[in-house]
Amino acid sequence: MKLVNAHTTLPTQRLYIDGEYVDATSGETFQTINPATNRVICDVQQAGDEDVDRAVITARKGFLHWSRTPPVERSRTLMRVASILRERNLEFAYLETLDTDRPLSETTTDDVIYASRILEYYAGVAQTLRGDHYDLAPDNFAIVRREPLGVCAGIGAWNYSLGIAVMKAAPALVCGNSMIFKPAELSPLTALKLAEVFTEAGLPPGVFNVVQGDGRTGQLLSRHPGISKISFTGEGGTGRKVMVDAAPTLKHVTLELGGKSPLIVFADADFDSAMNAALVGNFFSAGELCCTGTRVFVERPIYDRFVAGLGPRVTAMRVGDPFDMETQVGPLISKAHMEKVLGYIEMASASAATHVVGGRRPDSPELQDGNYVTPAIFCDCADDMQFVRDEIFGPVMSVMVFDEENEVLRRANDTVYGLAGGVFTSDFARAHRVAIALEAGTVWINGYGSGPPSLPFGGVKQSGLGRENGLATLDAYTQTKTINASMSAMERYY
Ligand code: NAD
Repeated sequence: MKLVNAHTTLPTQRLYIDGEYVDATSGETFQTINPATNRVICDVQQAGDEDVDRAVITARKGFLHWSRTPPVERSRTLMRVASILRERNLEFAYLETLDTDRPLSETTTDDVIYASRILEYYAGVAQTLRGDHYDLAPDNFAIVRREPLGVCAGIGAWNYSLGIAVMKAAPALVCGNSMIFKPAELSPLTALKLAEVFTEAGLPPGVFNVVQGDGRTGQLLSRHPGISKISFTGEGGTGRKVMVDAAPTLKHVTLELGGKSPLIVFADADFDSAMNAALVGNFFSAGELCCTGTRVFVERPIYDRFVAGLGPRVTAMRVGDPFDMETQVGPLISKAHMEKVLGYIEMASASAATHVVGGRRPDSPELQDGNYVTPAIFCDCADDMQFVRDEIFGPVMSVMVFDEENEVLRRANDTVYGLAGGVFTSDFARAHRVAIALEAGTVWINGYGSGPPSLPFGGVKQSGLGRENGLATLDAYTQTKTINASMSAMERYY
């Protein structure tokens, strides 16, 4: 097993098409950078239009074979991929840490294991895939088949690179589709390793391909007439462009977009649990998660105590080298993203909100080269402050006080987003009332952040279209064909 470390550099990375590495024809490369040091990890070849065409032709060939492969065989292949990932957990986790900034304490316990769980879930589902049968008359019945769409493209965000690739590939493949996956240009490495594992597990060539590149490569995929579906994860603005580009060829589109999720803490909540949720819901992955609960609403009777408790807990968090297993908060993905996050912190500091803790570059000399920002909390925030309304995608928590249920629901729902939300209370009926009233794709009651593969995940309002995970996703990777069969002669009509 070969583990990378903070100083690792790698050879130029290529594309993965037809079960092997191939050179891009574009002649262009881009660099992927280590967020902890801002040193170049390697060059990556950018896929141009000829490369995307080649991937589509190959994926079509892969589809024709794979769509006729019995589901039980698809299931076995996915199970083999899952078990290889589990065996190589450390190798994948170290590479993800190098490329995406997430501390090893997270990547060794979360990313690779979660990807395996998704594969195992859909491997199980494979053998339950079925259609419907209708008896229409004694001499007339119909069957409704579920058929794959064809070549599907996945376009990933940078923050959960391996997880996003698997979330798209596993349901697509289990339904008999082939896939071309484009990881984000900021974290392109683990998708290639995943493609290697698919091949090692026996997936036929052309069924899972990886093209690399920035938005231009993404656009080539969204516009390509040979692709039937785009599953996109990223920002809302980019999602809208994908939808526009996919429209002329009427592709199926799934959009997993951003959020600004509320976490509502009533005075009767288990105080320590709610505090734990606020911290993990804001600072896991340095806040670079789509479902972070960044708007924390706390009921007035416990507000001061809650805010007072947060500061020391955050000060005690270990910010630092992501390769140190003790580190809890690593660097942010890029210098540009760090500047954006620091800009929001400056905006918050200049507002009428009260600064509680953090939001600075750490002092230690060994962290100066990386994109580090200490976790920040602002309290006494108002709903209309820009840093409370915009998705920051970094370690910044806003805390607001509230007095009553209807008021907090109105305020929590007053956002264009609707990805997730949380409610803490010991009142069973209120927990359910609030969960139902929150405009979000996922609501946690007395918890925050868990997302087993069996549960659909996705947004309402401007947080997205469609779902990933769960059985719901099978609809997004299949289409129905109605076969209406008559067993008697057709009557003369004219
Ligand atoms: P982004 O929109 O900048 O990029 C996402 C991907 O789109 C990248 O692969 C990029 O190369 C590609 N892209 C850029 N322009 C394109 C175009 N015109 N056509 C096609 N593809 C194009 O997003 P990001 O900065 O990588 O990710 C952060 C965002 O992702 C946040 O908003 C976050 O909330 C969201 N996100 C959502 C989920 C979810 O499940 N809802 C999960 C993770 C991240």
